[in-house]
Amino acid sequence: MKVPFVDLKRQYLSIKDSIDLAIESVIDNTAFIGGKYVNEFEAEFAKMYGVKHCISCANGTDSLYIIMKMLGIGTGDEVITAANSWISSSETISQTGANPVFADVDYNFLTINIQDLEAKITNRTKAIIPVHLTGQVCDMDKILELGKKYSIHVIEDCAQSHFSEFKGHKAGTMGIAGSFSFYPGKNLGAYGDAGCIITNDNQLAEKCRMYARHGALIKHQHKMEGINSRLDGLQAAILLAKLPHILKWTDDRIRVAALYERYLQEIKQIKTPVVRADSKHTFHLYVIVTEDRNNLMQYLKQKNIETAIHYPTALPYMEAYQYLGYNREDFPVASDLESKILSLPIFPEITESEVQYVAQSIAEYFESTTG
Ligand SMILES: *Cc1c(COP(=O)(O)O)cnc(C)c1O
Repeated sequence: MKVPFVDLKRQYLSIKDSIDLAIESVIDNTAFIGGKYVNEFEAEFAKMYGVKHCISCANGTDSLYIIMKMLGIGTGDEVITAANSWISSSETISQTGANPVFADVDYNFLTINIQDLEAKITNRTKAIIPVHLTGQVCDMDKILELGKKYSIHVIEDCAQSHFSEFKGHKAGTMGIAGSFSFYPGKNLGAYGDAGCIITNDNQLAEKCRMYARHGALIKHQHKMEGINSRLDGLQAAILLAKLPHILKWTDDRIRVAALYERYLQEIKQIKTPVVRADSKHTFHLYVIVTEDRNNLMQYLKQKNIETAIHYPTALPYMEAYQYLGYNREDFPVASDLESKILSLPIFPEITESEVQYVAQSIAEYFESTTG
């Protein structure tokens, strides 16, 4: 058996007719940039999230940058984010002119550590970017409380957490704004780059929309200089065709995670994901923690099982951030996890026998190492 890490083709084949029709209609209508598909997607996504505004943009990196820029964040400011994330969470801080500040993560949840986060707040901190990594929502009660206490914005990075929930609230609806990526491999994926911002703040919504469209809400009336960050019609139509299925696909991921949990719980050498209480983890990634990561990964590769690491180097230790001069003791958990985390194959269409094969192979590996 061969188990891919993700297989986007299976999802396409399961809804081929509606995707093909969506693509055809966009071409028929030559609605390539802006237009009805983009408007419809924004309206539909906002409705599903129960928010006033959805502003589509080119990708999930731009959405973070646009939100910060329109909140007035810039030179001299500080923004805090998690040490273990994709670089978009921190590079966009620098893009505004502000300084990225990292906080360590929790061993159990792989999300930002609240104590370290509070310790990193200074009078220059303008925002916190909690990253709901792997589909696990951060401790939003505590983060929102800190935001209020120190008057700093909370911007949720939801690139890996479409339709995740914390105490009944959807991830992305709790802070001033939520930032989404629709990169093909994400839980809701386009067939190219795409992203959006959601918010209930009317003023922020208008500014973001304007900034992403060259500073003009009305053609040729540029109130300011902006950037070009648009969602194209093809991507919008593809996303629209996927929306009716996204909640089922999310449930399927949760079911796959439960299967892994069932098959892996007996293996003492690995720690399976811990889901935060009162929350809905949507398992963009299924990350196990084990001392013997590299050998296990190699063994699974021989068994034709594709795995991945999210992420092999924590952000503060990237060459890009060498200038900040951090050492291993600064982020003990993120540093420790680098060599222990392993993401197993997960996607809505993975079969039970594939999950079984992965789990069985992991069990076999540890049986062989302990004799
Ligand atoms: C994917 C991702 C992004 C960026 O999204 P793009 O659409 O690729 O620009 C931002 N943050 C996190 C945590 C991500 O996983």
